[in-house]
Amino acid sequence: MKIVTRTGVSALTIAVLLFAAACGQQKAAAPGGSEDSLAAQGSAGAQWLSYGGTYDEQRHSRLTQINKSNLDQLGVAWTYEMRSGRGIETTPIVADGVMYATSSWSILHALDAKTGKELWVYDPAVDKAVGVDACCDVVNRGVAIKDGVIFLGVIDGRLEAIDAKTGKPIWSVQTVDRSKPYTVTGAPRVVGDKVLIGNGGGELGVRGYLSAYDVKTGKLVWRFFTAPNPKMQPDGAASDEVFARLANATWGRTGRWTVDGGGATVWDSIVYDEPNKQIIFGVGNGSPWNAALRDPTSKGDNLFVSSIVAVDADSGKYKWHFQTTPRDNWDYTATQTIILANLPLGANGAPRRVVMQAPKNGFFYVLDAKTGEFLSGNNYVPQNWTTGLDARGRPQETAEARPTSGTSVLLPGPQGAHNWHPMAFNPELNLAFIPAQELPQGYAPKTEADPHTKWNTGFKFEDGLPVDPVDPATMKAMRAAFKGRLIAWDPIKQAPRWSVELPTPSNGGVLSTAAGLVFQGTVGGDFVAYDAADGKELWRRNLKGGIMAPAVSYEIDGEQYLAIASGWGGAYALAAGFLFDPAVQPLNGRVIVFKLGAKGEIPDHKGIPVDRKPQAAAFGDPAMLQRGLVAYSRNCMVCHGPMAISSGVLPDLRWSPISGDAEAWRDVVIDGSRAEAGMVSFSKQLSPDDAEAIRAYVVHQAYGPKK
Ligand code: CA
Repeated sequence: MKIVTRTGVSALTIAVLLFAAACGQQKAAAPGGSEDSLAAQGSAGAQWLSYGGTYDEQRHSRLTQINKSNLDQLGVAWTYEMRSGRGIETTPIVADGVMYATSSWSILHALDAKTGKELWVYDPAVDKAVGVDACCDVVNRGVAIKDGVIFLGVIDGRLEAIDAKTGKPIWSVQTVDRSKPYTVTGAPRVVGDKVLIGNGGGELGVRGYLSAYDVKTGKLVWRFFTAPNPKMQPDGAASDEVFARLANATWGRTGRWTVDGGGATVWDSIVYDEPNKQIIFGVGNGSPWNAALRDPTSKGDNLFVSSIVAVDADSGKYKWHFQTTPRDNWDYTATQTIILANLPLGANGAPRRVVMQAPKNGFFYVLDAKTGEFLSGNNYVPQNWTTGLDARGRPQETAEARPTSGTSVLLPGPQGAHNWHPMAFNPELNLAFIPAQELPQGYAPKTEADPHTKWNTGFKFEDGLPVDPVDPATMKAMRAAFKGRLIAWDPIKQAPRWSVELPTPSNGGVLSTAAGLVFQGTVGGDFVAYDAADGKELWRRNLKGGIMAPAVSYEIDGEQYLAIASGWGGAYALAAGFLFDPAVQPLNGRVIVFKLGAKGEIPDHKGIPVDRKPQAAAFGDPAMLQRGLVAYSRNCMVCHGPMAISSGVLPDLRWSPISGDAEAWRDVVIDGSRAEAGMVSFSKQLSPDDAEAIRAYVVHQAYGPKK
C-alpha cells in the first residue's frame, strides 16, 4: 500500500473515502397573519413553515418551553414508521397542525403533528431505474408550502403541486431532460408567486440551473443556468446576459464539459433575501471534477462552478456572485446551507446584513448580502489544499492541490468538510453550528486515455486499493482517520467558540433554539442537546436508528414539540459504509417527536438478518481479480461500498446469493433483471467478462484477510 507521509493518510484511505457528492427547497407564506412575517425573516415560531424555518434559513426556533431546566422531562410523544430502508434527510414542515415529511423515493407523508396519526401518503410512483443516477442515495430533503398547496421535488426531475388537505396532485411538471442523469433531492422554496427548484447530477454529467415556476400553474417563469451553453449560444434564459458578458470567457471552447454539461448543479441551498428582493443560491462542483479534463484549453475559473450566486427574485437576472472554489477540481460544492443574518459588522458596529456559508472546501465565508462583497473567511477544519485566502477571499492553492499524475491526499475530500446536513445559527449569540467532518481523500487524476465511466469524475477511485481484503489493523487505522465534529463558529471573529468531536463523519443537521440549546442527531442514533454557549452536553437519547436529518420545533395547544427523522443512508453511507460496518444497520425511516412529560417508547426495529458467509468457492487468477477490482471500483463502489464492503443500505455483494451463481449475476449486472429495484443493466459499461471478474473479486473479498 502506498503511504503518503505528508498527511499520514494512506493512499488506501483515499480512494476509500470517496466521493460524495452531490446530489435542492422553500419559503412559505404562512397561513396565519403574524406567522407570515416570521416566514420572511428571523426565527421560526409555533409553526415550521419552510425548509430552513424562515426565509433567512437560520434554523433557530424562538420557542423556549423546552429549556435547560427541564430537558430531563423530555419524552417521546409519538413515532411514525416511514416503511423505507433508504436514507432519510427530511426537514418536516409543520403548518396548521399538520406535519409534511418526506422519505426516500420522494414519498410524502402528511401526519397529525400532535398525535402522529397518518392523514395521507402521496407516492409519486418513481421508476426506480432512476436510482442509478442518484449519486447520493434516493433521498429527499423536504417540501415547501403556500396557501394550502405542498410543492414536492421528485427524484426523477418532476416538480409537483399537491393539495395539502387531500394529498391529491394539482399539477406536475418535468423540470429536467430525462435523457440526462439529472436527479432532484432538494426541497423547493416558495417566494411570492414562484416556486424555485434546482437539480443534481454533477457526478454523472449534467448542466446545472435554477428554475422558477408559477405556483398556480406550474408554468416556467425564469431559468438561470449555472454553466455555459455547450455552443456558448444564448439559451433564451435569464442567465444569457451574464454568460455573454462574463461567464463564457471563463471556460475554454472544448473539453469534456461540452459533452457532459459542466456540472454546477443547484442541488440544495436556495434562500430568499427579502430586503434585497433577491434569491441567493449555492452552486455545485464542475463536471467532471477533474478540471484538466473538463476544460483543457483554458485556465479559467469556470463560472459559476462552486459559487454563491444572487439573482433578482422577479426576473432571475444576475446580481452578483462569489466563487468559493475557482476552477473546482475536487467536488468542493458551494451548495451547503446559506444563512442570512445581521451581524455587527457595519460602521461603528452597526448591523450589516450578511450571507454565511461553510461549503465543502473547509472555509467559512461571510459576504455582504446586498453586494456579495467578501467580508471575511477562515478555515473551520484543518485543510491542506491551500495556504489560506487572499484579501478578496480567493484560495491560494498549494502545489499538491492539482496533481497531474500520481495521487495527492487532500483534506477536505469530496465528501466535504460540511455536506448537505443543515447548519444552524443562533442570532442572540451570533454563533453558527456546523455539522462538520474531517475526511481526507486521495485524488489520482485520469487522463484522456482512461475509459469514461458512468460516474464521471475524472479521478481513479481504484487507485491505492488492494486486491486482497484489508487486515483488521489497517481497517481500524482508516476508521480512526475520519472524524465528525459539531463546531460552534463565531462568524465575527472567524474562529471556533467550541467544538465537539464525534466518532464518525456524516452526523445530522442542526437545530438551534432561543432557550440556548443546540440539537443534533448522530450516525450512531443518538439525539443530543448541547448548551449553545459552551458545548456542554445536556441531554442524550438513543433513537434506535442512524440519524442524518435535522430536527425542527413547533408548538400546538401550548406545548412545544421537537421532531426529528431517523434513517441511515445517503452519500456517505453508500460510499464509505465500511467505516461503520456493522455498527449502522439499514432500518426503516421514522419520524420521532418529543415533548415535555411524554412517556412514549421507541419500538424496536424488525431487522433483516444477513447471513454473512461466502456464497461460492473462491475463483479467478490474480489478473482476473485485479480486473475485477478496477471494474468494481469504477462501476459498483459508489453504491455497494469500497472493497465490496457495504453499509447495508444497499446489498453487501459479498453475502448476496447472486454472487454465488454466474448466471444469476449476469442476469442482474448485464441483462438488468433487477432494474425495477434500481439496479439497472451495466451492459454499456461492462462486458460479460468484466462482470464475471467483478464476481470473482467480490467472492474473494467475502473470505476476508488471510489469517
Ligand atoms: Ca458533487
